[in-house]
Amino acid sequence: MKSLPVMLFVLLITNAGGVAQSTPTPQAQATVIRAGTLIDPRTDEPKRNQLIVIRGTKIEAVGNAATVSIPVGAGVYDLSNAIVLPGLIESHTHIFLQGEDPAKGGYDIQLLKFYPSYRAARATASARRALEQGFTTIRDMETEGAGYGDVGIKRAIDEGYIPGPRIFATTRGISTTGGYPLEGYAPGVDVPKGVQIIDGPVEARKAAREQLDYGADWIKVYMTHRSWVDKDGNLVPQPTLTVEELKAIVDEAHGWKRKVACHAYNGEGLHRALDGGCDSIEHGLLLDDAAIAQMKRQGTWYCPTLSVYYTDWAPENTPEGKRDRVRAAMHEQSFKKAMQAGLKIVFGTDVGGFPWTEPIAQEFTRMTQLGMSPMEAIRSATTRPAEMLDMQGAIGVIAPGAYADIVAVRGNPLVDVTELGRVSFVMKNGQVFSRDSGAANVSASTH
Ligand SMILES: [Zn+2]
Repeated sequence: MKSLPVMLFVLLITNAGGVAQSTPTPQAQATVIRAGTLIDPRTDEPKRNQLIVIRGTKIEAVGNAATVSIPVGAGVYDLSNAIVLPGLIESHTHIFLQGEDPAKGGYDIQLLKFYPSYRAARATASARRALEQGFTTIRDMETEGAGYGDVGIKRAIDEGYIPGPRIFATTRGISTTGGYPLEGYAPGVDVPKGVQIIDGPVEARKAAREQLDYGADWIKVYMTHRSWVDKDGNLVPQPTLTVEELKAIVDEAHGWKRKVACHAYNGEGLHRALDGGCDSIEHGLLLDDAAIAQMKRQGTWYCPTLSVYYTDWAPENTPEGKRDRVRAAMHEQSFKKAMQAGLKIVFGTDVGGFPWTEPIAQEFTRMTQLGMSPMEAIRSATTRPAEMLDMQGAIGVIAPGAYADIVAVRGNPLVDVTELGRVSFVMKNGQVFSRDSGAANVSASTH
């Protein structure tokens, strides 16, 4: 890793002199993967004994030995004993969160005491964690007070300085006065906020413009904030933005051909999110029938995040403990209802809300425990988010023309979905990031 920046520097110098531009680019060396079993999320049946030809960052050809030949001189990764599938997509991460331990200062200390460089270094490690678990693309759902740090991490990954997934960055997030931490400090004590605060449609539009200007691929809006359980046992969330404020953001983002993700639990804030034209609902803990019908009608994406609601429950007989248990139970019901209604569900965990040391693939297990088939769960982390991200055919599939984002596991995840938590081979953009010695033996082709 040490020599990489130096190498890139030399390349830059070469380009500045115009030498590289005047030399025709030689055709990139081909790489071939022998896939014993290939799971194609576009079809139900896995294919046997497939050859995947990769050139540069992309897949050139896929087929069996009768239809695809190995190019002369190609390096071959032998995954004939493995199950190969497209690189996975995580649609709700926070690389700038680390599942903060309340005993160590919790959420607040990051904004009050941590140096930006320290947070960026930890985000770099988080990004690497995603990639090593086979998640070659993430939609990162705001930096929690770390400004436009995600755009910098994304650039460092794209330029090869650090390993990490392809990032869809949302930058700062947006909420209203009274709608996001830090909170609980005395009036007049000026503390930073984990989002950009807006009040009124003019400020809302301005915030969206700023974030888009500084590199946001998506806009993240918090439509609900505090939640509590009322005397009848119902989960009540505090709504934040008005429909008018949200519409200004959605209008601006859509004008830039970008999309808006709305954090919304239920109730008033969820309905405002849908009336305001949100493209994806995040969490959606308690989707009522009207919300489900409206999501279906509007083609709204649903990103449930089951995993995060199972970590760090407060003690059972406290108000927080009751809320935590009610939230998880409601989320399960909403997930089932969304599935039955045929909503477009994408895989997301809210990792960062829990530590990055914990496995992301646990979400697959929770989804299938709630009745989703393993293949549908795989689709929620491949073809479906590819469509949501306007990358249909480019990611989430192993097909000619797609980026060579490819992972492998040893056991069949269609039989045991927990296999997705034991990834043995990861390739992103045609570059091998990791491989088990037993899972892939590279050899140069002689024919
Ligand atoms: Zn989140």
